[in-house]
Amino acid sequence: MTDIQTKLLVLGAGPAGYTAAIYAARAALEPVLIEGLQPGGQLTITTDVENWPGDTSVLGPDLMVRMADQARHVGVELIADIATAVDLSRRPFAVTLDSGTRYLADTLVIATGAQARWLGLPSETRFRGFGVSACATCDGFFFRGRTVAVVGGGNTAVEEALFLTNFAAKVYLIHRRDTLRADRTNQSRLAANPKIEMIWNAEVIMVAGTDMPLGVTGVDVADTTTGATRHLALDGLFVAIGHVPATALFANALKMDDEGYILTAPDSTATSMPGVFAAGDVRDKIFRQAVTAAGMGCMAALEAERFLAHDGLAEPVNALHAHG
Ligand SMILES: Cc1cc2nc3c(=O)[nH]c(=O)nc-3n(C[C@H](O)[C@H](O)[C@H](O)COP(=O)(O)OP(=O)(O)OC[C@H]3O[C@@H](n4cnc5c(N)ncnc54)[C@H](O)[C@@H]3O)c2cc1C
Repeated sequence: MTDIQTKLLVLGAGPAGYTAAIYAARAALEPVLIEGLQPGGQLTITTDVENWPGDTSVLGPDLMVRMADQARHVGVELIADIATAVDLSRRPFAVTLDSGTRYLADTLVIATGAQARWLGLPSETRFRGFGVSACATCDGFFFRGRTVAVVGGGNTAVEEALFLTNFAAKVYLIHRRDTLRADRTNQSRLAANPKIEMIWNAEVIMVAGTDMPLGVTGVDVADTTTGATRHLALDGLFVAIGHVPATALFANALKMDDEGYILTAPDSTATSMPGVFAAGDVRDKIFRQAVTAAGMGCMAALEAERFLAHDGLAEPVNALHAHG
């Protein structure tokens, strides 16, 4: 097994990881970044991004290639490998990769992100980024005057449905039960909104669409009580059934909330382990945006730099709270 020492190791090649690495490189920390299975992160599976400041419209994969290029340009070492085990019980922190290489890092930035939960239908996969989305904030704007549906029954689903009424002419909320898990306030707002129609006891079984151009034309839903199917004509489908943060590796090493998001100190990316910082969707279940992830990446690098400047003698973080 090869051991490699580094002052700062970044796990994750999304907006949070690249930004942390770029800042750390410019602070002469010679960071190493482990890319994981999805170099570029979640934006590599979308098409147009219209809310990244400085770009009127940019393709998600292109934006991420540019971030990687900038990281290389400032001297970040990008490693195509996956972290498979960590030992955070003592410094330097040990991170073992799939290849068997082991990094010994004075500080660690965790930016392993999250993945949206999908319905798991082949037809859904086919139209992802072409009418099927997991982010109303990101894609709602594309459905001005159109008809869309949201799938889910929790607060996120209801908030996405409400948000989409700012653009869409009609919003269906499809839920597989006859009651919502969303809180009372959200339910009242939902009931008061004339653009939203509930489809109770229903499960999406197929997303229908066209090939040229690739786009959604509707969904087939099955009644969960009778099995009867019906077709809903739609221009877009928003899947809002939750996200899974990529934190399994850190399960016994860091404090997390009950959904597995890493907890950080107030106004900080510091985790429960001094010298370990968490940035982006891995610790944020509220905003989930490229720009907020990048902002947290910047914070993590600056905090790691400060931590190293104090030779690791920074105050341990006691006052943890959940960001969301
Ligand atoms: C379809 C879609 C469209 C979106 N559109 C927009 C949009 O228009 N605008 C917007 O602002 N946001 C958008 N988002 C949200 C945005 O993509 C995320 O908020 C953002 O990517 C989060 O960045 P991140 O760096 O925290 O993590 P991610 O982008 O999730 O990246 C995580 C990184 O961690 C790596 N990783 C995971 N596990 C390991 C491991 N064990 N070892 C090493 N590396 C690992 C992965 O390979 C990946 O590189 C969209 C998301 C989706 C899914």
